[in-house]
Amino acid sequence: MPDIAIIGGGAAGAALFGALLSRDASDTVHWVAGNAPCTGRGVAYSTPHDHHLLNVRAGGMGLYLDADESFVEYGARHRPGSKPTDFLPRRLFGEYIESQLDQRLRDAKQRNRRFDIVTATASAIKAVGDRYEIALDDGGTVTAERIVLALGALPPRPLRTVSKRALVSSAYVLDPWSLIARPSHPRRLIVIGTGLTAVDTLISASIRWPDVELVAVSRHGLPPFVHPALPVDPFSQQAELNARLLACDGPALVLAEIRRTFREHPHVDWRSVIDGMRPINARLWQLFTPRQRRQFLRHARWLWESARHRVAPQSAEIIQQLRDEGRLQIHAARVLGVDGDGPLDVTVQSRENQLVTTLQSDIVVQATGLDTAVAFAEHPLVSGLLRDGLASADPLQLGVLAEPDGHLINTAGEMQPGLHAIGSLLRGNLWECTAMPEIRIAADALATRLNPPRAEHDDLLELLESG
Ligand SMILES: Cc1cc2nc3c(=O)[nH]c(=O)nc-3n(C[C@H](O)[C@H](O)[C@H](O)COP(=O)(O)OP(=O)(O)OC[C@H]3O[C@@H](n4cnc5c(N)ncnc54)[C@H](O)[C@@H]3O)c2cc1C
Repeated sequence: MPDIAIIGGGAAGAALFGALLSRDASDTVHWVAGNAPCTGRGVAYSTPHDHHLLNVRAGGMGLYLDADESFVEYGARHRPGSKPTDFLPRRLFGEYIESQLDQRLRDAKQRNRRFDIVTATASAIKAVGDRYEIALDDGGTVTAERIVLALGALPPRPLRTVSKRALVSSAYVLDPWSLIARPSHPRRLIVIGTGLTAVDTLISASIRWPDVELVAVSRHGLPPFVHPALPVDPFSQQAELNARLLACDGPALVLAEIRRTFREHPHVDWRSVIDGMRPINARLWQLFTPRQRRQFLRHARWLWESARHRVAPQSAEIIQQLRDEGRLQIHAARVLGVDGDGPLDVTVQSRENQLVTTLQSDIVVQATGLDTAVAFAEHPLVSGLLRDGLASADPLQLGVLAEPDGHLINTAGEMQPGLHAIGSLLRGNLWECTAMPEIRIAADALATRLNPPRAEHDDLLELLESG
């Protein structure tokens, strides 16, 4: 059976690697896992801070569909008293990933299942006959017939309104997760963005620098909505609603149908309605025309993201407390420019009254969310794939063009043999494919497609041939 290589050492790569190892096959699974110290944790679960919480309840988190041990059990062992409904620290989920991987590796070794973990970054992929050669940054190569890209989010690009001078100054922070390692003590810190990453950044900064003045700016100034402390009952008419939503022609009608449901069922918690759409979100997105997708991105995305990707109640309480104490201000405003070499001048235009003001800040952190604009990314591997025609960019810059099962489409418009992706690179096709509940389903399905269960007649054939 032809070899497989997974590129990317985050949770999606770990989920697929573990799923492949659990299936008996004669191929070798190579995992090009990057240079990060903790393989499998990726960006989300590498944080050492306990105040960075999961935004999914423990009961909804997991690495494999056929888990060796559920995250709830793991949580109960390592955090006595924790419950399936809790929002546990992301660090704990990172440890869980490592323990799950360890178990699969031990089991695979016992079964003589062949695998190989490569601690290097892939810099290029070259098609050579019916194989691919993966060039590594340490000078090595990995050869495989089938490759899965599990690259997560691409390196963030600076906003166009940030001057070169500001960018090269150490006062502009493009990677929010590097903020806490800074030695300086800012008087004011501005975060551009008000989503989940901004929330984590603000909480971390408030703990590290108790007297810092915090400001968060985004076009709508809307922080994520909050999960209820306990799960809400499912909406009893969700199946009928989902059927009606799938019959809507475009996002405007979808939103109108959701609004009508909220009006007609005022006692139903809106969050159960939004959560109940999870099984149809990818299908809804696929039914939109390119024009309708663009409409959704321009007019509804900000509201959808806040309502769908909610924050844990504990994090929301801290943010509210910071606002009540006057330590945090949130502005609905457009960032017109960031300039200077520290402190930086941040010029914003208020959404409410169009007034333009300039705020000075010792540190400005860009937390504007997931970047999947492959055509503009500074990512040698992805740029090379586009240049060589092995992959093509989604027209809305939501990752790469692919079939719903992750099979990449090349520049000739055909499925590129053996090349697949999982996770956020597939947003153009699936829209919601970036969180663990979706990723582990996708990993299991992809593992089955790459290593289909052996049919009985294959076994019989092998016996006949060997006998
Ligand atoms: C702050 C934050 C909090 C989140 N919280 C939750 C949550 O509570 N629950 C939830 O379900 N989801 C959450 N998510 C979503 C999260 O993205 C997924 O759960 C999951 O971690 C995605 O994993 P990934 O492997 O696709 O991406 P990543 O974690 O980004 O991992 C991809 C890895 O691939 C590596 N890589 C890139 N290029 C190469 C290359 N050329 N060679 C080798 N390696 C390469 C990257 O360095 C990275 O380590 C959160 C995301 C973030 C950013």
